[in-house]
Amino acid sequence: MEFSFSNSQKMIQKEVRRFAQEELAPQYSRWDREKQYPRELLRKMGSLGFIGTSVSQENGGLGESYITEGIICEEIARGDCSLPMATHVAGHLCAGLLEHGSQEVRDAFLAPLLAGEMIPAFCLTEPGSGTDAVAMQTSAEKKGAAYILNGEKSGITAIMDADVSLVFAKTDPAAGAKGVSCFVVPRNLPGVTMQGYEDLGCNAVVRGSLFLENVEIPASYLIGEEGTGFKMAMRGFDISRILLCLEAISPALVSLEETMAHVKKRVAFGRPLATFEGVSFPIVEHLSLLEAVRLLCYKALWLRDQGRSSSKEAGMVKWMAPRFATNAIRDCMLLHGHYGYTKEYPLEQRLRDVLAIEIADGTSQVSKLVVQREVMGREFLPYNYR
Ligand SMILES: Cc1cc2nc3c(=O)[nH]c(=O)nc-3n(C[C@H](O)[C@H](O)[C@H](O)COP(=O)(O)OP(=O)(O)OC[C@H]3O[C@@H](n4cnc5c(N)ncnc54)[C@H](O)[C@@H]3O)c2cc1C
Repeated sequence: MEFSFSNSQKMIQKEVRRFAQEELAPQYSRWDREKQYPRELLRKMGSLGFIGTSVSQENGGLGESYITEGIICEEIARGDCSLPMATHVAGHLCAGLLEHGSQEVRDAFLAPLLAGEMIPAFCLTEPGSGTDAVAMQTSAEKKGAAYILNGEKSGITAIMDADVSLVFAKTDPAAGAKGVSCFVVPRNLPGVTMQGYEDLGCNAVVRGSLFLENVEIPASYLIGEEGTGFKMAMRGFDISRILLCLEAISPALVSLEETMAHVKKRVAFGRPLATFEGVSFPIVEHLSLLEAVRLLCYKALWLRDQGRSSSKEAGMVKWMAPRFATNAIRDCMLLHGHYGYTKEYPLEQRLRDVLAIEIADGTSQVSKLVVQREVMGREFLPYNYR
C-alpha cells in the first residue's frame, strides 16, 4: 500500500497550487460579485494542461491518471471552488463523451475544449426530471442525414457561457435508459436559446436552462451509438462525482488552516482561543472526517486507474464530502466570530459554493442508493430499472 503521490504528481500539485494562489484566489470574490466567467484564465489553464488531463494522448490530452486529475481539481479548488465545477464538467464529463465522437466531432470540439478555447455544457437534467433522469422528455428524431431536437434542459452549469452543449435526448422513448442518446449542439444554431438563474453560489459559473425548438443538427453529431447516451453519462459520473468531492474538501481544508491561524492569534480571557477545547475539538473533528473522506476519494480514483469499479466508493464520498465540508466551513465562520460573517473573508462564499456540491452530479439520497445497489444488490432498490 502506497499513500504518497509520485514525484511528478508532487510537481504538478505544487504548480497548480501556485497557480491557484496567484491567479485564482485573489479574484475569487470579484468573479462571484460580477458573475463573470474568467475565459482568459480558462485558456491559460488549457495551455498548462489543467483541463481534461486524463484524456488519452491520441485524442489530444495528456493521458494522465485519474489520481493526477484529482490532484489538479483539488488544488484549483484551494483558490476558487466554483470554477472547477465548470472546468471538470468540461475536462471530464464533456471531454469523456466527445472522445466517443466521430473524428469530425473530435477535431471540431474536443481539441478547442482541451485548449480552454471552448466552453461546453453537460445537459441531462430537465424541469420534470433530475434524479430520475431517464424520465426526460427531450426528443431527437432522425430525418435523413439530420436529427431534429426538441425539449428543455434545466439547472445546467455554465450554460450562459457555453459555446456548445452535450445534450441527452430520447431517440426511442419506449426503450427507457436504452432509448437515450447524446448529441453535440453548438450554441449558434437556429432554435437554441438560454436563460440564466440567480443562484445562491457559484455565481461566476452562471447556471441556467437550455431551450431547443426544432433544432437541426447533422447526424454525425450523435455521440457513439444511438441508445448509449445514458450509459456513457453514468460512467462519466462515477469519476466526476469523486472529482467534485475533492473540490468540496479542498476549500474546507483551506478554511480550517485559516481558522487554526486565527485562533492561535486571537486572545480571549487572557489566552489564545486555540487553547480552549471548545475551539480546538471541532477543528480536530472536521480535520479527521475530511482526511478520511479525502483518502477514500483517492482510493476510488486509484481503483479506476486500475480499471476497476469505483461506483460504491463514488457513492460513499458523494454523500459525505459536501456534507462534511459544509459543516466544517460553517464552524470556521463561527470560530472567526463576527468577522467570519462579513464578505471581507472568503468563508461565506465558500459555504455558498460548496453547498451546491450537495446537489450537483446527484444528491446525497441518490448517492446512497448507488451504495445500496452495490452492497445489497439491484433487486433491493426502491425502483425498477427501465
Ligand atoms: C450547482 C448545480 C449544478 C448543476 N449542474 C448541472 C449540469 O451541469 N447538468 C445537468 O444536467 N444538471 C445539473 N444540475 C442538476 C442536478 O444534477 C439535479 O438538480 C440533481 O440531479 C437533482 O435533481 P432535481 O433537482 O430534479 O431534484 P429531484 O430529482 O426532484 O429530487 C428532489 C429531492 O428528492 C430526493 N429524491 C429523489 N428521488 C429519490 C429517491 N428515489 N429516494 C430518496 N430521495 C429521492 C432528492 O435527493 C432531492 O433531495 C446541477 C444542479 C446544481 C445545484
